[in-house]
Amino acid sequence: MLNKDHIQVWSECLRIIKNNVDSAIYDAWFATTKSVSLEDDVLTIEVPSDAHMRQLEDSLFDILRATLKRVIGERVKLNYMVKVVPGFNVNYSHQNTYVPDNPAVQFPPDENDLMNPFVLPGLRKLKIDTQLNPKYTFDNFVEGVCNRLARTAGENVSKAPGNNPFNPLFIYGGSGLGKTHLAQAIGMKIKEDYPDKVVLYVSARTFKSQYVDASFYKDRYTNKNRITDFLHFYEMIDVLIVDDIQELVGSDGTQNAFFHVFNYLHTSGHQLILTSDCAPSSLQGLESRLLSRFKWGLSAELLMPDYETRLKIFKAKSQQEGITLSDEILEFLANTVRGNVRELEGTLISLLAHSTLNKEDITIDLARRVTERIVSSHSNELTFDKIRDTVCDYFKISQDQIVSKTRKREIVQARQIAMYLVRNLTQASLASIGTQMGGKDHATVLHACSTVQDLMETDKSVKHYVQELEKSLKLHN
Ligand code: ADP
Ligand code: MG
Repeated sequence: MLNKDHIQVWSECLRIIKNNVDSAIYDAWFATTKSVSLEDDVLTIEVPSDAHMRQLEDSLFDILRATLKRVIGERVKLNYMVKVVPGFNVNYSHQNTYVPDNPAVQFPPDENDLMNPFVLPGLRKLKIDTQLNPKYTFDNFVEGVCNRLARTAGENVSKAPGNNPFNPLFIYGGSGLGKTHLAQAIGMKIKEDYPDKVVLYVSARTFKSQYVDASFYKDRYTNKNRITDFLHFYEMIDVLIVDDIQELVGSDGTQNAFFHVFNYLHTSGHQLILTSDCAPSSLQGLESRLLSRFKWGLSAELLMPDYETRLKIFKAKSQQEGITLSDEILEFLANTVRGNVRELEGTLISLLAHSTLNKEDITIDLARRVTERIVSSHSNELTFDKIRDTVCDYFKISQDQIVSKTRKREIVQARQIAMYLVRNLTQASLASIGTQMGGKDHATVLHACSTVQDLMETDKSVKHYVQELEKSLKLHN
């Protein structure tokens, strides 16, 4: 059988089937299939959906089986490949009735009842691409105070996925602080230790577009969309990692679907790992029933790397690049570059590029020249301090007053406007704005921002202040 061309074989099968079934049935269920491969008596065909496969299994299996036996032989096995949602190919191995893979399971001699309890457990084996990037591991995720809680929780999750107090594990923090890296590292470790677990990494954006595609799809025979298939696909995942969950804000249908998947997986003891650019309670515009579920497990924040961690990161990353930097240079870099981890990586890459291009050794002098450029390009960016100072000058209040606890109306207003401007003009997270604003929590910051937003629509003077401040900040920067 090996030498036979699968396309030829399948078209022969289709010809026989066509002669034996009603033409409407043929058009609906067979004409849309395609063969993929034939190896050692295993024929793989592609079907358009999970529902399609079930229909073939449930109602059309007799003709299918008889034909396959006739064309390929007694030992034939059939695999389905289902294009469930764009981007993911799913293989269902139909370890079926002809030759059981597991000889310990005895099938009745002429078994064709697929609901047979012996058959079901081995019937479908889901194989999917995890979408994980092997470059993100725990080994190269540098540990420091800024990420210890999240990292430790992640390690615990990977030891006993689904069976630990951190379900869901919710990792949050500003951009470039390692959310994707850590979430993927957990997935990689689970896949390594539990190869049979079905692990899937998906960005919330992809989840959303898959959902939208599934809901717009209309089957031309049944007139149904593919939402059920979409949900079934996600229900089969053992460890689901959804990155940048804040992207779900504003789309109700997707949130509903996610709520369903979340509940299904959580109640079946499967692991969920979610990341977001802010804490669950600050995810404005996300349904409260979803938010309350995010709080069931553990929320762990990734913070900006502190000096010690920056030092370790520069050391580890330069070693990965195959170079050894002196302690003096490492300390200089850790002291000078105070950004997120992505920025630290960028600095190191520039340094290496300069040294290679100019055939120049990496000296403290070169490090100084390279970082000067980076730091000076940064000085154009608005900072919390700059905005606070401008707001204080504008309202003629002191820096102590603005961060104080006073409830005096004009100071409260200046403070709220400052928070609003920092939120809109910089990348700072709600939590860090709160901390810098004299130890307020993120909910206070969020409240301040929405108050200013509302006032700008109803109070002309507030609108005027904000516009003037924005103008002056942009002008002097
Ligand atoms: P986020 O998803 O939070 O925006 P990423 O996970 O994409 O951030 O991280 C940005 C870059 O920084 C990646 O190249 C990642 O490997 C690296 N990185 C982040 N945190 C660490 C860490 N603790 N140790 C080593 N590399 C890190
Ligand atoms: Mg990310």
